[in-house]
Parts: sequence; structure tokens; C-alpha cells
Amino acid sequence: MQARVWLETYGCQMNVADSQLITGVLRRAGYVIAAKPEEADVILLNTCAIREHAEERVIGRLGDLARLKQARPEVKLGLLGCMAQHNRAALVEKAPWLDLVAGPDTYRRLPELLGDSGFDAAVDVRLNRAETYADLSPDYASGVRAYVTAMRGCDKFCAFCVVPYVRGRERSVPPADIIREVRELAARGVKEIVLLGQTVNAYRFAEVGFGELLRMAAAVDGVERIRFTSPHPSDMSPAVIDAMASEPKVQPYLHLPLQSGSDRVLAAMERGYTATEYLDLVARVRTAIPQIALSTDIIVGFHGEEEDDFRATLDLMRTVGYDSAFTFKYSVRDHTRAYRLGDTVSEAEKQRRLNEVMALQEASSLALYRATVGREFPVLVEGPARRGIGMLAGKTPQYKTAIFPERAGVAAGDTVAVRVASATTHTLTCTLA
Ligand code: SAM
Ligand code: SF4
Repeated sequence: MQARVWLETYGCQMNVADSQLITGVLRRAGYVIAAKPEEADVILLNTCAIREHAEERVIGRLGDLARLKQARPEVKLGLLGCMAQHNRAALVEKAPWLDLVAGPDTYRRLPELLGDSGFDAAVDVRLNRAETYADLSPDYASGVRAYVTAMRGCDKFCAFCVVPYVRGRERSVPPADIIREVRELAARGVKEIVLLGQTVNAYRFAEVGFGELLRMAAAVDGVERIRFTSPHPSDMSPAVIDAMASEPKVQPYLHLPLQSGSDRVLAAMERGYTATEYLDLVARVRTAIPQIALSTDIIVGFHGEEEDDFRATLDLMRTVGYDSAFTFKYSVRDHTRAYRLGDTVSEAEKQRRLNEVMALQEASSLALYRATVGREFPVLVEGPARRGIGMLAGKTPQYKTAIFPERAGVAAGDTVAVRVASATTHTLTCTLA
């Protein structure tokens, strides 16, 4: 009988894309996907190391799986991804029941590693500067949107961040491989492509930069919408802004991680821009693409962040007016440059700052979502709405969730015009226009 595998994914969109790659590798090696962990011969966790909390969740889950393994010792348990890379030695010691510990550059070898694991755990956490998996097709999820990896790793080394250590150095997938994937997805009926990378707009392969890649993806017939995540402010070149402004398929939405509004903190974070430079970039983007929506990432309580610095972050958020934001309490990560600096802001104070940032963002989102009431948007239909019987859901070009009543003949993959009737901080309730 074929071995059955169960794979759980934690963390960012890159991990979701990696899990699709892993499923493809294992399926081609003869594995089948199990319906639930209890029925699997192999259980794999694809993990995240970005904050301590992310790691704690996985440690908790490993505890559950250890009990499952006690009952069925023949089950193979594997930990993959960023946490495998980050905590390799400690993991083998703390979780001796693990059969496999494998980092993000080893997925090509997974069938072999699973075969090797026996009495001792198979451990492979070598990073490989050349690995892009360009030739391997992932098992994409069904749906109107697909995430295509354009680049892997990161060379920015922000002082707080573990990504360059766990995902390795920056490398771009050859454009021909990306466009081949995009064509295949379009042929299968996918309408929206999201190009992925930790600093996706740092993409460069020979002569092809990210602006050019956007144009190449937009030229593929059948694809209607192009998005990308996460860009870095320092790599928002005129060529990228130009491609966004002039290619109608590239959607007017930009996730532009700020982290902090204080120059002192930005310098300590080694982000490579000042608050003024960031605001100047926002102004240039808004001039070029007037209908653009902006989102961001904010960290509160970084080493040395004083009340003034925190106020500067709130001020900058007010000045920009983000449509949405992901907000985090600083979590000290070993290996990073800020690790030895330690934590200077107490947990209670971080929580207070986080609450304030979240309240400000809620108010900003609500105002911006409400400002769309009465306006019309083209929405790419994704399927039934999660809430609301008889409602369909999709995204506006600005990546806002819109829900609207079903109508005969309207199905997933169609683009329909809707008019916004009312809005909350996360959803636009619409009528068909
Ligand atoms: N590469 C992307 C960028 O630079 O914008 C983001 C990568 S990371 C997966 C997503 C977000 O996690 C970051 O933008 C940052 O806000 C947050 N983050 C990263 N390291 C963190 C840490 N040590 N503590 C708290 N938040 C962190
Ligand atoms: Fe981490 Fe900075 Fe790289 Fe983003 S750009 S992945 S925050 S090091």
C-alpha cells in the first residue's frame, strides 16, 4: 500500500507555497495525502520561526503528536521549515521522537530523507544558495488565485529578523520557469497570480528585474490579476512603480512594511530607510497609482523603543492612513543582530502599545472601508461567502473582501461589478451593480 502523508502548515504565505511544493515532491515519489493525521504513516509540520509565539504553537502540537506516536510507534514524525533550521540541535534533544528535521532548502530530498530515518532522526538543515526548486511543480490548491514563488531567502538582515538565517540568502527563480507556471495555471482556469518572496521586489535574474517580471506575468493570456507580496520599501524602484501604474492587470494594492515610524528605531532595526524616505515613497506611489490601497507591518517594543519613538509610529500611521495592518510585539530571536541587545520594553508595555496601534488601525480601516460606500468595484468571484447564506465573496482590486448576493450565472472565476452598500473594518457588503 502507498504511504499516506499528513502535512500541517504554520506561518506565512511562503510556507503555504512551500507546502504545495512538498506535497508535489512526495506525491511524485508515491505518497498519497491522508484524510486526517490519525490515518497517516508520515506526519509533517512545516513551521515558522518568526516570533517565539509561532514556535510555541508548534511545540504544543509536537506534544500532541508525541502521544499519537506512542500509540502508533511506526508513524514517522517530521519537522520542516524555518523552525527546523532555527532550532535543529535543541529539537533533536527536546523532541527525541522526531524522525526527521529538515530545513527549507532540502525539500527535493524529502523522499530520500524519510527513507533514511529509522533508529536515528534524519537531519538535513543545509542551506543551498542555488536551490530555487524552479523545475519542480507544486500541487497548487484549487481556486481562482494561486501563489507562485518568484524568489527565496533574504539578504536584508534587519536586526530583529530570523528569516535570512533560516531561509538563507536571496535567490530568484528564472523568469522562464515562473512564466511557465503562470501559463499552466492560467490554462487550468486560475485568474489571479500572487508572486511571492520575502523581499519579492528585490527579484533579479540576469537582465530581468521585478518591474519586468510583472510585465511578463501580465502578458500571459487568461490571467486577469497580478499581485505580489511582500515587497520591501527600499526595493520599490521607479521600474516597479511604473509597471504597477501602467499594467492594468497589476492590482492597485501594496503591502509596504513600515515596522516603525521613528528614525532612531528604524536605524537600530537596520531597515535601510528613514520615516521621511518612506513617506516620500508613499507619495510617489500614490501619485502614480491614485486608487492604490496600502497595508503594512508594525513592530512595537523593539529594543530601545521609547514612548517618543512609539508616538512617531502612531503619527506616521495616521499620516499614511493604511487600509489594514499586521501588528506585532517584538520577539527577541537568537542568531539575529538584535539578539545580544536584549529586550528593553516590558511585556505589559508592549501589550499596551500593541493595543493602541491596533485601535488606531481599526479606526483607520473602518474610515477607509466606509469611504467606499456607494462606489462601484470589479470583484473577482472566489465562491460562497463564509458568512451570509446566499452570498458570494471575492476581492476588489484593492484587496478588500466584498460580499454580495448570488445571482444565476455568476460563478467563481467571473469578474462582476458590485456597488458597496455598507462596510465594516474587514468586509464590504455590496449589491450587484
Ligand atoms: N520580508 C518581509 C518584510 O521585510 O517586510 C516580511 C517578513 S516577516 C515574515 C513578516 C513580519 O513579521 C515583518 O514585517 C515584521 O513586522 C514581523 N517580524 C519579523 N521579525 C519579528 C520579530 N523578531 N518580532 C516581532 N515581529 C517580527
Ligand atoms: Fe526579515 Fe527584513 Fe528580510 Fe523582511 S527584509 S525577511 S523583515 S530580514
